[in-house]
This record gives sequence, structure tokens and C-alpha cells, in this order.
Amino acid sequence: MENRLKATLELLKELGFEEFYTLSEGRELSQDEKNTGEPGRLEAENKPLKEASEEITPKGGEKGEKVVLLEELYERNKNCCRCDLCKSRTQIVFYDGDPNSPVMFVGEAPGEEEDKRGKPFVGRAGQYLNKVLEEIGLPRERIYITNVCKCRPPGNRKPRPKEMQACLNVFLRKELEIVQPKVICCLGGTAAEAFLGKTVRITRMRGRFYPNPLYPKAKLFLTYHPAYVLRNMWEAKTFKEDLKKLKEYLEKIT
Ligand code: SF4
Repeated sequence: MENRLKATLELLKELGFEEFYTLSEGRELSQDEKNTGEPGRLEAENKPLKEASEEITPKGGEKGEKVVLLEELYERNKNCCRCDLCKSRTQIVFYDGDPNSPVMFVGEAPGEEEDKRGKPFVGRAGQYLNKVLEEIGLPRERIYITNVCKCRPPGNRKPRPKEMQACLNVFLRKELEIVQPKVICCLGGTAAEAFLGKTVRITRMRGRFYPNPLYPKAKLFLTYHPAYVLRNMWEAKTFKEDLKKLKEYLEKIT
């Protein structure tokens, strides 16, 4: 049964369906939902994050040890209020992708869409990143992706240093210990600052590897945040070249 379900989901994915929702026990589809094939807003928003992490269990595999450890980390901290960002969030936005991947992508913080859906990089910037990753042959399912801060800052402002430090201690340091990536790709200057502990001019520092003071076992690679590229499309080629360089490095070390 489980294998058949997996095969069906794979097929639907190949056909271009990217989102799957479950229906609460005992609840019937509304007429609107039957017409559109999509769950009502309330249903989608109430979907627990644990369920989202089950969707991203590594392809074809059992739920691995890293997935279990990440679920435990989430369970311990799902009500975290160690910084003010908990006041305005809808929910904590944890991670997506493959915890066994050698590469961890790290952005700044969730945006509106991510806050609503409980998954990182699912808005326009995330879709653009997926497209570029697909083009260079490094599909999103093969990477681990998260943010420095797990809660959406009000009005999408940049997270404050105190907020980033708090969230590093609650989540990101522990994610690094669990996932043990070989290389970390910082998407944008804010993520780079969290790792390097200093102000970063991303336009000057992008496209190169650096030692990683926060997690010395993995090299740090810096590039633009996809949201920045969407606002400055003349940088699209550079962004893609950066990601190609990262992929070549991954091929060498794995
Ligand atoms: S941003 Fe991180 S530290 Fe702050 S409340 Fe959210 S989970 Fe906790």
C-alpha cells in the first residue's frame, strides 16, 4: 500500500503536480474543493509541519536517522519564543529537501508564503531557485534547504543580529550537527553574515568558497539570494554560474 502510494505520488510529481494535501479524518470535500482539486485555505494552513517533513522523506528510502533527529529537534522547539519573531509568525518554518544531502542551502528567513505554508523557499524566489537548480542538474530534492531564522520577520524586514543568534542556537547549529553537510551555500548576505560573523558585501564576495567559522567541517560558498536576482534580473547569469560552480565542487568531493 505504502509503495503504491509512493509510486502514485512520484507519477503525479512527474506530471507536474507539486503540492499534495491530506483531508482531515471525517471531513468531506466542499464543492469548491471538488471543482478545483485543492483543499480549502483553512485545511492547507492547518497542515502540521510534521506532515510536511514526512513528504520530504528521502526518495525511495525509509525515514532515515537524520529525519528522525530533525523531527525531534522540531518537536522540542515547535513553540519556541526565544526571540520576538515568535509574536508575528503563523508557524515555524523548518527545512525542506534531503537531510542526507552533502549540500545545505541557507537563506535569511521565511517570507509570507513560507509562513503560510510552513515550508522554506516555496514563494516566487523559491520557485525561481528550483528552476535554476533544475537547469544545472541539481534538483531541489537533492539538497537540504533552510533559513537562519525559522520565523517570518514582520513586513519581511531583515532579521536582527539578536534574532539570528537566538535561532542559530535553537535550530541551525543543531541542524548542522545532524545533517553534517560538506558544503554550505549561503543565499544572500544575511545568511553569509550569520556564518562569518561579520558584515558581508555579497556582490564582492559571491561566487567563492570560504573557511567556515560556524561549522569548520564544511566549506562556505556565497551567492545571491534568489529574491535579489528576481529584482535584478541582469544578475541571473551570474547566479546560475555560481550554482554551476557549486555543483562542480560537489561532484569533486562526493
Ligand atoms: S526565529 Fe528562531 S529563535 Fe526566534 S522565535 Fe522563531 S524559532 Fe525561536
